[in-house]
Amino acid sequence: MNEGTNSCKNCGNRFQGNYCNRCGEKVYTDHDKSILRFFEDALHFVTHFEGTFFNTLRAIFSQPGRLSSDYCDGLRKKYFKPLPFFMLLVVLYLIFPLFTGLNMPFSYYLQKNSYAAKVTTAKSGINIDSALSVIYQSEEQQNIVNEQEVFVYQTKAMNTLIESDEKLLAIEHNFNKKSEKISKILLIILLPLTALVLWLLSLRKRRYFFDHLVLATELNSFYLLFSFFILPLLLTLFYKLFPASITKSVGEAAVGIFAYLVVASFAAKAFRLFYRDRWWWAVLKSLLLVIAHYFIVQVIYKFILFAITFHYST
Ligand SMILES: [Zn+2]
Repeated sequence: MNEGTNSCKNCGNRFQGNYCNRCGEKVYTDHDKSILRFFEDALHFVTHFEGTFFNTLRAIFSQPGRLSSDYCDGLRKKYFKPLPFFMLLVVLYLIFPLFTGLNMPFSYYLQKNSYAAKVTTAKSGINIDSALSVIYQSEEQQNIVNEQEVFVYQTKAMNTLIESDEKLLAIEHNFNKKSEKISKILLIILLPLTALVLWLLSLRKRRYFFDHLVLATELNSFYLLFSFFILPLLLTLFYKLFPASITKSVGEAAVGIFAYLVVASFAAKAFRLFYRDRWWWAVLKSLLLVIAHYFIVQVIYKFILFAITFHYST
């Protein structure tokens, strides 16, 4: 169409063809000024968006590791960029929270986290540790030992304690409100932390940290898709199809282990393709990865989540 030399309207570069080879600006003709073209652009944006979105989803589910391997090889046009894709999933999760997921109520932290107990004591003037030891004592007296029952009992006792004090109640209210959003946005820290683990597990490969970060983003995108969209739907179906006598015996731990086994098998396949690992090493690495991931989510992520949310709710 545009034979001969063009000069770029954007950067002044002189070049041949329809796109500037320095900045990428297009050469527009009178044809581009038709009214139809104006609306075509919008349609193109939507269909292109949809196309790359579904290409990306399909790549993730049909061939784990393909997306990252293509992206690192410079084959990028047909996919969503990894980070925007991950962020899009986070936004979808924000809009459709099928699972409470990693968003824990304030009382949970008071039971499980000594740091939470300490800073809450300092802020509210109520000694959480001594309140907890009173709860532990009455637990022992009533002979509550089953892990599930202990948790229910402690949560109840904690809520009673919180409701008895205005200051604590205000902190709890703010905390739970803020935590809902912060817990989701903070998912982004899973990416560099997972990349660090991949880098350590693949030191011999001598790849750029960037490559590990790309794969970490694909792995966490799958983790998010599976744990927060697919699994809740599977569980709903499971509870509908089977009688309570069967579903009752499936504990939270079993569901968690199942989810991580699925993520591990995804990771093992991705390692085979992305790092060209031998299968036994890919399997071993995937198990190490999910153990590290569990630690990252349960300890590091939850701690940072608590600290940030607490900071903004007091
Ligand atoms: Zn240019």
